[in-house]
Amino acid sequence: MAGQKQERRPLVAGNWKMNGLKGSLSEITAIRDALSGPLAAVAADVLIAPPATVIASFAAAVAGTRLALGAQDCHAKPLGAHTGDISAEMLKDAGASAVIVGHSERRADHGETSAEVRAKAAAAHRAGLVAIVCIGETQGERAAGATLSVVSRQLKASLPKEINGANTVIAYEPVWAIGTGLIPTASDVEAVHAAIRQDLKDIAGAEGSSIRILYGGSVKPDNAATLLSVANVDGALVGGASLKASDFLAIVRAYEGK
Ligand code: PEP
Repeated sequence: MAGQKQERRPLVAGNWKMNGLKGSLSEITAIRDALSGPLAAVAADVLIAPPATVIASFAAAVAGTRLALGAQDCHAKPLGAHTGDISAEMLKDAGASAVIVGHSERRADHGETSAEVRAKAAAAHRAGLVAIVCIGETQGERAAGATLSVVSRQLKASLPKEINGANTVIAYEPVWAIGTGLIPTASDVEAVHAAIRQDLKDIAGAEGSSIRILYGGSVKPDNAATLLSVANVDGALVGGASLKASDFLAIVRAYEGK
């Protein structure tokens, strides 16, 4: 509705990358228990994306709780002769409710193009998973003043048809901020998120206002409150600091009392 403030429930998502064994269940149960105990009043969605190998066993531990599970990648096809790959349907079957697609590490390590990311996001929707679509500029692109054009181009090329606030989340992750301890200034984050918001409205009309835009890249307990209070920052995608429940929960606490 014109002029109406769009409320978006924040999402704090953890990306464990290639870390985590069955024994890491204790971190999951600690997060789960905090969300039903001391953090019960925090109005944010919370998700951990562990390696695919442990999704099914962790799913049993979080069933019926506030802690959701996601995966870190999926194949675009539902099934077939693709040795070693995992489909979105398989992730859903294992207990995931979301999947990260287009993470910069996959774009760099596996040469994933935005067209492939778009197909993976469409696969996520086909399977009933939320697609968390990652975009972000490199250090060189930022230095060249190309941040907004790079991010806009990646966004438009990585999104499938019929995106909405329920099936899609964007994660803006400057590549140079991932795992480095470096972060953009709040005003830089604000400018990029505002541009993404405008693109989402151009692409999806009114739905563009309901799609959450996460910031990712060296979010830590000591910078979370600042980063997460920036306009159009609807949560965080957290890598390293999601591996320990205590650090991750300290980031979730940025939404305490909000
Ligand atoms: C990530 O890989 O998505 C990420 C944001 O990592 P980190 O928080 O460790 O920078």
